[in-house]
Parts: sequence; structure tokens; C-alpha cells
Amino acid sequence: MTGFRLERRKGRGSGDSALNPLLGIHHVTAIAGDPGGNVDFYARVLGLRLVKKTINFDDPGTYHLYYGDEVGHPGTIMTFFPWPDGARGRRGVGQVTTTSFAVPPASLGYWSERLKAHRVPVESAAAFGEDALAFEDPDGLKLELTGVSAATERPGRSGGPVPEEHAVRAFSHVTLVEQGFDATAKLLVDVMGFRQTAESGNRFRFVLGAGGAATRVEVRCTPDAPPGRIAVGTVHHVAWRVAGPTEQRDWRERLVGRGLDVTPVLDRSYFRSIYYREPGGVLFEIATDPPGFTVDESPDRLGTALQLPPWLEPYRARIEAALPPLPPLPPLPPAPARV
Ligand code: ZN
Repeated sequence: MTGFRLERRKGRGSGDSALNPLLGIHHVTAIAGDPGGNVDFYARVLGLRLVKKTINFDDPGTYHLYYGDEVGHPGTIMTFFPWPDGARGRRGVGQVTTTSFAVPPASLGYWSERLKAHRVPVESAAAFGEDALAFEDPDGLKLELTGVSAATERPGRSGGPVPEEHAVRAFSHVTLVEQGFDATAKLLVDVMGFRQTAESGNRFRFVLGAGGAATRVEVRCTPDAPPGRIAVGTVHHVAWRVAGPTEQRDWRERLVGRGLDVTPVLDRSYFRSIYYREPGGVLFEIATDPPGFTVDESPDRLGTALQLPPWLEPYRARIEAALPPLPPLPPLPPAPARV
């Protein structure tokens, strides 16, 4: 029987999700209000590193800010489009409603105190055997810090405003709020290679590969909840990782073959992207690991200067004049000692 299964896999070539798996969460993109408040909260309070300061390529009068670990490894990247005069959105069906970051379980006490010291109201939360702290960013975006045992295997950011041992390691998971269940679960399991590992009431957990931080998604079924409205304080999309352009092309073919409406490959300077909507309405992206954030800045200078794509460089003076100033960043970490 094993031989038969192997043969079937071979027949499907590298397009098989078992041979070319999604590697986890690549990034989460949300909409912020005031960019200054956004930098202050994510870079100073949460201690993430602002790894790229650029603009929304489709709206060059506004920033696109990227935060992550020391170099913005995939799985650690939270990005924002700040709309200073934008209306507040509404969390609801068809959205990523909660973005959860992974910290060592023993660090939750430190974080509870730290958030309170910065006047951030915090509530205790727990799901699937893990403790967490739930809170909102200055624009009402719902976040969690989840105690994930495997998080201790990743290094914490050194030299940031949060001690290395307590630093955010990566995403833990994202939570999708859905009206139904079957169509989204089918896409996750049958097409995208997730496994359902747990359920509790209306909450279902799915995992990629060996599991751990940045490989998990929770689906929450709330048939009576109102639809979400994407604007300030809500998540715009979640991106999943692939190793490179070849793998991305395979994924595109597979998704199109399943009847999904997928965009062409788009060059986002720091990764390449395709987008599609899952059946419950959440916008998904598949993004490549390369080239990463050091493509236009050295590791020790990441996030310090406004970066523009080549086609917008001629307009730099006009673009810089239109952007609001950002608050000073926490001190830069020391240059990496390793060669
Ligand atoms: Zn994206």
C-alpha cells in the first residue's frame, strides 16, 4: 500500500503540498491610525525592531512600517499601513481578529507588569493549554502575548528595550473569525497542508508541519457575529511562507487548480507575493522568504532611513515632505558580533 501512495505522490510532482509545504506565518499586515503612536507602541512598548520604513507602494503619501526580530525573519514580521485620518474599523466575521505573539511561558509575569506600567489594560486569556495576555494597541487592534514552550528555542532580540530573555520571539498564531467552518477547514487541510490538532467549543486549532510558534491558526466560528469592516485597528491580511519563487509558482498553480482567484506574482521589494481570499472572506497571501530586509539596508541600519522602490526614488523629496515625522526610535542594538 505504501508503494501505491508513494507512486501517487510522485505523479503529482513538486506541486504536492507534502513535498513543498507552507512553512508557517510570514507576516501579518494591519491598518494603524497615527504612525507616531504605532512606532511608539510596537518599537518601544513591545520591543520589536522597526526593520523597514517605507511607503505604501499603491499610496505613496502614506507609510508602510515593518516590525520584526533583529533582521525581520519571516514569522516575526508585523506590518502596518498607517492612515492618520482613517476611520476605525470593526472586528468581525471574515477577518483575522486577533494576532498572537509567542513569548516564553515564564515571561508572562514580566509582560503583565510591563504593559500595565505603560498604561495598557491587560486581561488574562488561555486557549488550548497555553496562557496568554490579551490587550489592544493604541488603535484598538487586538493582540495577545501567548506563552509558548517552543518559543524558548528561538533567540530573543538583544539590545532592544525589552530584556532578551523576555523578548517576543515570533508570532504564536492568528485567529480567523468565520461564519461557517467547513469551507475554510477544507482549504486549510486539503489544500494548504494544515492539520486540525484541537477543538474547544467553537474554536478549532490547525497547525503546519511540526507546530510551534508561527505555524498555527485558530478558526473561531461565530455565525451570528456581524461582518468585519477593514479600516484603522483591524488586520488587512495574513501571509504564509514559502521558500522561494519556484515554490510560490507551484502554490499558485495548485490554488488556481482548486478554483481560487489568485493574483499574479507581485514584487513587494522584500518578498514576492500572491493573494487570494479564503472562502470565509479573509485575505490570504503567500510570500517568499527571500530577499528579506537586508536587500537595501545593512543589518545594523535596518529601519533608520526611508526606503523607496527604484520607480519612486525620483519623487523622494516630495514624498518625504508629505509624510508625518516619526518619534525617535529606541537605541539601536549593537552591530551583530557574528561574521
Ligand atoms: Zn502582505
